[in-house]
Amino acid sequence: MLDGDLNGLLVVLDECPVGVSVSRRRDGHVVYANRRFAELTGLSLADIIAAPARRFFVDGQQRDAIVDRLKRKGRVDNIHVPFRRADGSMLWALLTVHSAHLNGDDVNFAWISDISERKQTEGRLRLLSAAVEQAPVTVLVTDKAGRIEYVNQAFSQVTGYSMDEAIGQNPRMLSSGEVSREVFHDLWKAISSGNTWQGELCNRKKDGSLFWEHATVSPVKDEGGAIAHYLAVKEDITLRKEYEDRLEHQANHDQLTGLPNRVLAMDRLGQALALAGRGGKVVVVMVVILDDIGKVNDTLGFKAGDAAVIAFSQRLSRTMRQCDTLARLSGNEFLVIIGDIDTPAMAEVSAHRILEDCHQSLKIEGRDIFLTARIGMTAYPTDGRDPLVLIRNAHAATVRSEERGRNSFRFFTPKMDEEAQARLKIEGSLRNAIERNELSVFYQPIVAAGSRRLIGTEALLRWSHPELGSVSPDRFIPIAEASDLILPISDWVLRQACRDASRWQAKMGIFKLAVNFSPRQFRSLDLVEKILDILEEEGFPKECLEVEVTERLLMSGMNNAKIILDTIKSFDISLSIDDFGTGYSSLGYLQNFQFDTLKIDRSFVKEVDGAEASRSLASAIIEMARALHMEVVAEGVETVEQERILGELGCQAMQGYLFGRPMPANEFDVLIGL
Ligand code: C2E
Ligand code: CA
Ligand code: CA
Repeated sequence: MLDGDLNGLLVVLDECPVGVSVSRRRDGHVVYANRRFAELTGLSLADIIAAPARRFFVDGQQRDAIVDRLKRKGRVDNIHVPFRRADGSMLWALLTVHSAHLNGDDVNFAWISDISERKQTEGRLRLLSAAVEQAPVTVLVTDKAGRIEYVNQAFSQVTGYSMDEAIGQNPRMLSSGEVSREVFHDLWKAISSGNTWQGELCNRKKDGSLFWEHATVSPVKDEGGAIAHYLAVKEDITLRKEYEDRLEHQANHDQLTGLPNRVLAMDRLGQALALAGRGGKVVVVMVVILDDIGKVNDTLGFKAGDAAVIAFSQRLSRTMRQCDTLARLSGNEFLVIIGDIDTPAMAEVSAHRILEDCHQSLKIEGRDIFLTARIGMTAYPTDGRDPLVLIRNAHAATVRSEERGRNSFRFFTPKMDEEAQARLKIEGSLRNAIERNELSVFYQPIVAAGSRRLIGTEALLRWSHPELGSVSPDRFIPIAEASDLILPISDWVLRQACRDASRWQAKMGIFKLAVNFSPRQFRSLDLVEKILDILEEEGFPKECLEVEVTERLLMSGMNNAKIILDTIKSFDISLSIDDFGTGYSSLGYLQNFQFDTLKIDRSFVKEVDGAEASRSLASAIIEMARALHMEVVAEGVETVEQERILGELGCQAMQGYLFGRPMPANEFDVLIGL
């Protein structure tokens, strides 16, 4: 090689951005280094030349390994080596050394470049990723479309889903269905517009259990400022939530019975009153006092006393409807809130049931003990509109109920109380009415329009009370319906009516017997069997019976009602809708049922011979019934004029004083010519 060429080469080497050195293997001394090498090591060229190369190594072991490898392989490539600089600071270098033969000497060529910065970044990244991976909070990263790209260990620990199961999924995989759609809507709106969202979420684990998280979700932007990812950091707060719930429960519930306490009861009462106010409904507030609990404490001890209170509270809650509230006000005082009723009388059923239950003993510590109760009742809005006033009224009523003795109730308002007592009396004597032969069935003729030919009869119950005289069914049927009394009474009516009507049917051939049924009878599927049994036992043909129900039944929301009506119909028994037009009268539900007959209520019939406008309602009902292929019977026809107009409007059958009043069976025999 020419000298000039060599010089040129050295100049180029000096400008090279990589540090270059040549050392002699014999003694390890550096014989050449370029300027970059001097810069990187922080030494002057004079210091470098003739110095041993080993002085630069921080790690002696690593140096020995390099030397060893050079001996065996003649080269080492691209290894990361920490070097000590002249000022004592550290330099991370990428080192390559090749052995060669130069001018009769064995030498090592070394190339070094500075990788300190890269080393530092790598270290930071490693630290960060370990920190995120091992963080005690859940970290989840999704792409822009919401697909999970990363979850940390805490995520798997909390949710039970492994990283593999989570990646590629949507965070919806944790959805519990317990969080409202608005919450997710808000979350998405916030983060997609570049903001951070914070909130509490109820999620579901892989094993199906629920847990609560406090979540912070934020967008992660790329260099250009566009949203590239979403980051969610979440903390499991289930324990805190449970603790809060427990605290709240403790603050609002009675420790012994677990029932709502006075605080919560006042709250619920306020809500019930507000609801009733809007819907024009009645709320009855009932205070129930358990007598003699002090005596139990004295004779059997406090533990037995507590057990008695618990047993009584359980018994109370069994007598109530789901929608009512039962609370414990103090030691032996309970509060019952009965909402969503139309009249205060409807709450009497509950009072009766509670008092009736008191005739049964409670088993306390192996003994049978009998505890009596007193009940005071007051009604919103008649007696007051304020929760405190109502509770005070109910209390006052319990004090006065004491005069009636144990196991009794009293209304706060004297008039309401009188009425309740009268009902109680009627109920008491109605219980024995069947055995005492006080009930009978009357029959009213049903005739064909125009010809007035007798086509059937409606069975109407009568009660002649030894003292009260004849009691109207309008008065005693609702009382019978409020207890289970209506069931034996209805059975008795059906049996009696079938027995009587068998004679008429035998004589007349086609002859309809209409019998009234109460909604209460439709609670149990046994009704159909009961009807079929009675028909068979009395030998009355199924197709001659017509079951009359009112709109009340259809609107009661009883699931069974439709099934039972359909079943009855499937046995060829006719169905009739009674008092049509007085209830909610909706065409829609009539279509869902298979009624054969529609009875227009007396109130419409009364109007037909009046002004033109009042006729139009009856006319509309008749039109509609005909469109649905139902036969129309007008009830309560009293005048010839009414008969004529209804006939013209297309009514096929009629019933009313004009054709015959309800009469005893023997009179009906005469009517028929028996
Ligand atoms: P309802 O089913 O609408 O019976 C018709 C009522 O109208 C009967 O009253 C009948 O006497 C009366 N009535 C008939 N024609 C005329 C008339 O031309 N003018 C007037 N002003 N009234 C007339 P009743 O017998 O007092 O029965 C009242 C309600 O008691 C019945 O109304 C029915 O809802 C119920 N009821 C009667 N018997 C039974 C029964 O055995 N079971 C059930 N669940 N309810 C019954
Ligand atoms: Ca009827
Ligand atoms: Ca009727």
